[in-house]
Amino acid sequence: MKITSKLPDVGTTIFTTMSQLAIQYNAINLGQGFPDFFMSPELTSLVSKAMSEGFNQYVHMNGFPLLRERLAEKMKKLYDATIDPADEITITPGGTYAIYTALTSVLHAGDEVIVFEPAYDSYIPNITINGAIPVLISLQFPDYSIPWDEVRRKITSKTRMIMINSPHNPTGAVLNENDIEQLKAITAGTNILILSDEVYEHLIFDDLPHLSMLKYPDLLERSFVCFSFGKTYHCTGWKLGYAVAPGAFMNEFRKVHQFNCFSCDTPKQVALAEYLLNEEAYLSLGSFIQKKRDYFNQLMKDTPLIPVPSHGSYFQCYSYGHLTNENDMDYAIRLTKEAGVTTVPVSAFYKTAEDNKVLRFCFAKKEETLKLAVDNLARFYK
Ligand code: PMP
Ligand code: GLN
Repeated sequence: MKITSKLPDVGTTIFTTMSQLAIQYNAINLGQGFPDFFMSPELTSLVSKAMSEGFNQYVHMNGFPLLRERLAEKMKKLYDATIDPADEITITPGGTYAIYTALTSVLHAGDEVIVFEPAYDSYIPNITINGAIPVLISLQFPDYSIPWDEVRRKITSKTRMIMINSPHNPTGAVLNENDIEQLKAITAGTNILILSDEVYEHLIFDDLPHLSMLKYPDLLERSFVCFSFGKTYHCTGWKLGYAVAPGAFMNEFRKVHQFNCFSCDTPKQVALAEYLLNEEAYLSLGSFIQKKRDYFNQLMKDTPLIPVPSHGSYFQCYSYGHLTNENDMDYAIRLTKEAGVTTVPVSAFYKTAEDNKVLRFCFAKKEETLKLAVDNLARFYK
């Protein structure tokens, strides 16, 4: 029997590919973005407590009500946003699902979606599977800033959405006030929606503020904003997140959600509702992870790789173009095999594999892991 692929250009994600290679060659995995340190024992005991108290059946399809209320309180405190927990928040099985559901609920065949590259790997397939058209714009190397003039030139009557991601995976770039002003000016008076991927909202460094769409009513009114508990609480394997959007958009989102996932893990939502009262847990995250970035970058001075500044996320990019002409995929494979360190080649985040000879390293690791990895690299380059 023959089937026609809906995603003919898509293979296995780069994260799985590189993690498999790391296992195969017994390399230290600084590729796929996940912490190798333990999450909060207080939060895991709250999950056990919820299970033993009987929170083991389907929870409300839009998410545990108390969790949504606590999230609304948090968004009020952090961003002065007034979000209705009943109509404007839905708990999802991860940020990736929230993004897919948002796109699926609003995109029609032929709609154009502006995507900045390098782009998180799910964005373009999420657009094309809905029959919509990704309109690609490269962020400007090496600071990965948004070329707003090009954005203006690429807007057409079919532009339905602009996707943004700050702090940005894979580069660690963050939006600044000028970006927000440009976004406001470009979208004002149009029907253009915004998908804002803010899964790294707390993973922001150097005292920079996170410029969430939640802070700007004129942007929020046209936005789906997506978050991930996995990133905030060092539990990527929990696969829990949430989407925030104006009621009319969320209504469409929930039509798709109810027939796909319906409702998410109950005891974890109950635990998160209680743990959200601990503000320090998320407010201290930026400085906690920044220490890891700084430690890693300090160690990396023993290698000839050149850092590309990262101001947020789990990631730090390094360029190697002054050392060899090899393409970044080949180079990443060689580092795995010969240096015993796995990274992610940044060309994997471009549809046409644009190769600036940059590798992405995940520094959300124990200090000993980072030290072992950089020792391996230093030996390789000696
Ligand atoms: N967006 C970006 C930019 C990410 O890096 C991730 C991390 N995987 C996600 C979304 C999705 O996170 P989750 O694991 O919650 O689906
Ligand atoms: N977000 C993580 C990364 O960029 C991994 C997510 C995944 O493996 N799908 O590495």
